[in-house]
Amino acid sequence: MSHDPNCIFCRIVAGQIPAKKVHEDDELLVFHDINPWAPVHVLVIPKQHIETLYDAGPEHDALLGRMMGLAPVLMRRLGVTNGFRALVNVGPDGRQEVPHLHLHVMGGPRPWARG
Ligand code: AMP
Ligand code: ZN
Repeated sequence: MSHDPNCIFCRIVAGQIPAKKVHEDDELLVFHDINPWAPVHVLVIPKQHIETLYDAGPEHDALLGRMMGLAPVLMRRLGVTNGFRALVNVGPDGRQEVPHLHLHVMGGPRPWARG
């Protein structure tokens, strides 16, 4: 599995940086965003280092599907039952700050800090 020692999310996967984890399996890790925009804001990431959505190919279709499919399951588990947003920032114009693919999943009662 590809791992970039300089990547902050790879370092979270490796347990070198702490995170408030909400889910972990063989392919995916989910943890709370350190700077939440909404009452509940988690990041769903693949454990393997994929930089952006541009770098995901057809071989990653199932992985991407699992990331999206996990979102409603975890939101329900976290008490978010009135809707949420799921979004992926891609590259510079997408304002992606961390170059390790991640799905933002945000929910909870309004108003939110952003978005
Ligand atoms: P993006 O702009 O889509 O790349 O978003 C990166 C997100 O990662 C931001 O919402 C940050 O608050 C979040 N983030 C950065 N470092 C950490 C960390 N160590 N633990 C949890 N979330 C982080
Ligand atoms: Zn990484």
